[in-house]
Amino acid sequence: MITDAHPPVAGRDYPRTFSEFDRFFPNEAACREYLRQLRWPAGFVCPRCGDQTQAWVTARGYLHCRACGGQTSITGGTVFQDTRKPLRTWFCAMWFVTSQKHGANALGLQRVLGLGSYQTAWTWLHKLRRAMVRPGRERLSGCVEVDESYVGGEETAVRGRQTEKKAIVVIAVEMRRPKGFGRVRIQRVADVSSTSLTRFVRQAVEAGSLVHTDGWKSYNDLPQHGYRRQMTVVSDSGDPAHVLMPGVHRVAALLKRWLLGTHQGAVSPRHLDYYLDEFTFRFNRRTSRSRGLLFYRLMQQAASTPTTSYRDLVGGTEAATRK
Ligand SMILES: [Zn+2]
Repeated sequence: MITDAHPPVAGRDYPRTFSEFDRFFPNEAACREYLRQLRWPAGFVCPRCGDQTQAWVTARGYLHCRACGGQTSITGGTVFQDTRKPLRTWFCAMWFVTSQKHGANALGLQRVLGLGSYQTAWTWLHKLRRAMVRPGRERLSGCVEVDESYVGGEETAVRGRQTEKKAIVVIAVEMRRPKGFGRVRIQRVADVSSTSLTRFVRQAVEAGSLVHTDGWKSYNDLPQHGYRRQMTVVSDSGDPAHVLMPGVHRVAALLKRWLLGTHQGAVSPRHLDYYLDEFTFRFNRRTSRSRGLLFYRLMQQAASTPTTSYRDLVGGTEAATRK
């Protein structure tokens, strides 16, 4: 059984290469078994009668309880619930998304899997993005840089903090001593008010941490919430912002390059949050020795994340062709 004390083992718990992937997942039955092990690592317990004796898997992918005869869907309550496509195709999509450093866009996924429609590929990527944020994840700690950045819209000069077309995102980056970055948290905010920025910091950063910001007044309340604040006023120092806040500026540049590169900048503000989740998932695992471990983490989270309907993904009105 895999726990925090017993981390997953490459080559045993997840594939390291595509040829191992092929060996792990030769058919639907193997994919279902893998998912079953992830969902019930200590063995299946019937949710109806609590029986723990061995259930058998039906031809349609249900666990049939020997005691009460009830059937439990292996994919129920996961990202894969109600899918009409083979699980193996989903697993391939997840391998494709995690094995590439910068991920995949919908067109690339459609091509590599031979999916009939762009809409399916787009929907899958969005469903998977919803599984990229681990609920109850730990907040950042230590020394954390926090600043806002502006994403999307036209690259024309936007002065100061006023912006209409661009989305405002707040970025928090753990700063390692003597150098290097730890984890990040990124979130879109409606405005740069004290309410919005303080709420973000409280969700993203552990109280007691040293929060490094610029001189913006909306950060003034942080000490009241148990943070130590280090303030660097950019205009006073004469140094450009990227020198004074190197973490945030590095992450903002990577984020913008990723949105423009992998996604050709075609991300609508309403879906930006989920792209931020994917960026964060990748960034925080950038030092993983094995890409297979990313596949495994995504699979773990997909197995415990309820699916999102296409209607909910597009907000009920917007066509999938709008990214
Ligand atoms: Zn039962």
